[in-house]
Amino acid sequence: MLTRGQAEELDAADPLADRRTLFHLPDGVIYLDGNSLGALPRAVVERVARTVREEWGTGLIGSWESEEWIGLPARVGEKIGRLIGAEPGSVIACDSTTVNLYKVVTAACAMRPDRKVILTDTANFPTDLYAIAGIATLVMTPPDDLVATIDPEVAMVALTEVDYRTGRRHDLAEVTRAAHQAGALVVWDLAHSAGAFPVDLAGAEADFAVGCGYKFLNGGPGSPGYVYVAPRHQDAFRNPIAGWFGHRDPFEFSTEFAPAAGIGRAMVGTPPVLSMVALDEALNVFAGVEMEQVWDKAVTMTELFIELLEDSLEITTPRNPAQRGSQVAVRHPGARRLIEVLAQRGVIGDFRPPDLARFGFAPLYLRFVDVLEAATALIETATELTADRGPVHPPDFPANGALGSGPPSPS
Ligand SMILES: *Cc1c(COP(=O)(O)O)cnc(C)c1O
Repeated sequence: MLTRGQAEELDAADPLADRRTLFHLPDGVIYLDGNSLGALPRAVVERVARTVREEWGTGLIGSWESEEWIGLPARVGEKIGRLIGAEPGSVIACDSTTVNLYKVVTAACAMRPDRKVILTDTANFPTDLYAIAGIATLVMTPPDDLVATIDPEVAMVALTEVDYRTGRRHDLAEVTRAAHQAGALVVWDLAHSAGAFPVDLAGAEADFAVGCGYKFLNGGPGSPGYVYVAPRHQDAFRNPIAGWFGHRDPFEFSTEFAPAAGIGRAMVGTPPVLSMVALDEALNVFAGVEMEQVWDKAVTMTELFIELLEDSLEITTPRNPAQRGSQVAVRHPGARRLIEVLAQRGVIGDFRPPDLARFGFAPLYLRFVDVLEAATALIETATELTADRGPVHPPDFPANGALGSGPPSPS
């Protein structure tokens, strides 16, 4: 079992240890929720302030050109593309994940006009299900049955690579291959993948992907999402929300829509420059870092966390690191209360109904001593709550574990 001394040695030998100084982290907090809202990279504060004060305040409308605001979505897209194994010119930052998913799934279904089914799994994130349900017939299968369910009716397979609750990870390359063999297209939601482990979209010959800017990419609350369209599909990609920023020449002000060449046609309207600037700056914490290094550290961290917990708590995350993302989920009947009490002790995780306590590991700003301290606090808190359960606090602990959902936090 990991000792304090060993955790300190691991930190001393950690090639990513210096990255922590790039983040603002409140004193006394161990932040295991970077998979919901990434921590603040320090440089974002000054960059956003400067953009507001100088670029907007003084430069006014001229900043669209002089500060190249106009090119931000493509530049940010390239930075994200490097993290997800995308070809140059195939990723653009825009809109939210939900909106992007709608655009991509609609466009992809139009490329398979003879097929009527969108296939997904029951573990997919609710917004993904809501956004695509009206586009064609949505069929949901348990994750383990997914590949076997792909048949010639399926126009496209729409999946989130990492299950937001358990952390279970699909085999992106294998599912993509199986879908292609059946003539279907695939869209991957990389919300819990990008910035957490290496993704190889080009290598897997993926068709489309979307994802969030505010989780492991640390772009801040409401940060824009992104869209990947494989180069071979870009000419056929018809954005269902035709807007002037997806036009070949927005400033021609033509009454006819003509899509931009390449990935630019996935855009809709004016980019949110302040949020885009925050994401652009935040992505610089990945400069000079290989995703393999990030994942190596995440594997060690999640392994140690699981080892520390597994005798005391029920872990729902796959034991094999290749089958999970950068998170560990614990099932506990008082999971909501557990997360609340842990937060009072400075350990921030997340509750997911009905009974999961979820802990995300962002290797750029977490230390091995944090892993040890968080696991210790978690075991102590769970033990206290178990001892407390029953008549003492009945409103907090309904016997069936059916607790209401907590305050909303994007997953
Ligand atoms: C976080 C998350 C989203 C969030 O979508 P928004 O449009 O940014 O609110 C979507 N899908 C998945 C799988 C997520 O984890």
